[in-house]
Amino acid sequence: MKNLTTTLLSVILMLATSLPTFAQKDRSEIEDQYKWKFTDLYESDAAWSSAKEKLAEQMNQVADFKGKLGTSAADLLSYMQYSEELMKEGYRLYIYASLKSDADLRDADNTSRVKEIRQVFVEYGQKASYVTPELAAIPEATMKAFIAEEPKLEIYKMGLMDVYRMKKHTLTELEEAVMAKTGMITGTANSAFSVFSNAEMPRVKMTIDGEEKVLTPANFSMARSSTDRDVRQKATKVYWDNYLKYEGTYGEMLNGQIKVDVFRAKARNYNSALESAVKANNIPVEVYKSLVQNVNNNLGTFHRYLELKKRMLGVDELMYSDIYAPTVKGVELKYSYEEAQELILKSLKPLGKEYIEVVDHAFKNRWIDIYPNTGKRSGAYSNGGAYDVHPYILMNYTGQYNEVSTLTHELGHTMHSYYSNKTQPFATADYATFVAEVASTFNEVLLNDMMQKKLKDDDMRLSLLMSMLDGFKGTLFRQTQFAEFELAIHEAAEKGTPLTGKVLTQMYGDLTRKYYGHDKGVCTVEENVGAEWAAIPHFYMNFYVYQYSTSFVASQALAAKVLAGDKEAKKRYIEFISAGGSDYPIELLKTAGVDMTSSEPFDKTIEAMNGIMDEIESILDKKK
Ligand SMILES: [Zn+2]
Repeated sequence: MKNLTTTLLSVILMLATSLPTFAQKDRSEIEDQYKWKFTDLYESDAAWSSAKEKLAEQMNQVADFKGKLGTSAADLLSYMQYSEELMKEGYRLYIYASLKSDADLRDADNTSRVKEIRQVFVEYGQKASYVTPELAAIPEATMKAFIAEEPKLEIYKMGLMDVYRMKKHTLTELEEAVMAKTGMITGTANSAFSVFSNAEMPRVKMTIDGEEKVLTPANFSMARSSTDRDVRQKATKVYWDNYLKYEGTYGEMLNGQIKVDVFRAKARNYNSALESAVKANNIPVEVYKSLVQNVNNNLGTFHRYLELKKRMLGVDELMYSDIYAPTVKGVELKYSYEEAQELILKSLKPLGKEYIEVVDHAFKNRWIDIYPNTGKRSGAYSNGGAYDVHPYILMNYTGQYNEVSTLTHELGHTMHSYYSNKTQPFATADYATFVAEVASTFNEVLLNDMMQKKLKDDDMRLSLLMSMLDGFKGTLFRQTQFAEFELAIHEAAEKGTPLTGKVLTQMYGDLTRKYYGHDKGVCTVEENVGAEWAAIPHFYMNFYVYQYSTSFVASQALAAKVLAGDKEAKKRYIEFISAGGSDYPIELLKTAGVDMTSSEPFDKTIEAMNGIMDEIESILDKKK
């Protein structure tokens, strides 16, 4: 049985991007066709409230099933159907509340709806804490007999049989109830981090282009990608020095979170926090460790990318503060939303008519909230949890090429949800995060491929190719660096090493110097960059980020086959995005044509990256 809170988290796939801030419109000034249609979910706020009351009421009936789950196939079925209806409605309620809230975070009614529905879930979690231990107590043979006797139980088989795979980690009823109650306190480190880093941490000011600016994360992200080297270096110095001032506080917060992860893993009889994070999806610990190992073995390719960057920037010594600098000056790939739609539809052609038609329908029927407005959540995501409705996409589109890429990325998630919701029963529609980022990065590969064929101008091609390489850097190398750091700090905590801010800065700094070839003279990592760990929210998500890298690798391998015109590969890919959570992620990917327990997809990815670099070098050589 899935844990409700983690399921809810996985429904919302955040793409961590920070966007430049600029004068924003009020939401009321944006035409309806560019905004979400909330009425597809609920007619009105009043309709939402009464549906929520009704759900809370129905949740009380969970007590009636206690002691009956193992008595007969019919009783088990009636509980499964009851619980399914609750979840379906619960997701829909949660999605309405959170989308409205994200459209304008300043609105108190929006915020309070999110709190109300969360509270309903927490209370239900406590009332239903008997369920998993009671299911686990049913002998496996009896469970199999129930499923054989009642064909309607077949759709729940995956979840029901999983109880036995996870039995070692299921506690007694009383212990489960205590664990459910810890949910009220185990989020404290993360909430403190969120409040402190988003709101209360004093930010420093810096003069940029004659104007004094507060170095918020968004302004820092602009400053570090400035064409002016002095601005980049100064911003890097000032920004991370400021984090170092609060190193102790950030250290306590992250230490608090890691302790929670370690506590949960120990309480549930796992060998490690890593095992507890990957086992729910039946992913071997080795997949995580070999990703880290493979990336370490290929740091040479990463260094080639850094050397290329140095050459294009024309600097004698590449600094960490240069990493985000634009390498092709005077070229800006910009597209209106209408142009973006056209590019995306064209790039998705290899996936067939139906896929394109649904994407077009999404564009025309307000599945996407496209433009930024005052109070709107930054970044981008797709939310496909409203099973009977349709997925929703949040964007903050301003016309940059990387946002066209983000849009097709989110559409990848949306189409994965669309096909899975359409094909699978509710019980197996939701897909694991491990496969989620495959569908999204797959679409990015298709877009880049089309753009590469379309652009003829050398500078424009260079700009595109570099942005593709930045994708390899950001998704494969940077996320794996994060993953390696996460593993190191959890292992340190498991051995009893106290994780202070200083220790974390030292560990993160060492790792960054290794990745960027500091000692080999590839890229000089400024001393204070070691503080970067303090700014990464994903470290509060218990081994989440490695899935960006593994998904990226898997999608590169799958897309290469589809782009080569392999009809069978296209068919298998559509089946894969229609499969939801009907099997374990590694198995689903195997059926789609990629074996994540082998290093082959990884090697193919590195090969693709080197291919791009070959092309960049030949353009550069020609230009000289
Ligand atoms: Zn994504």
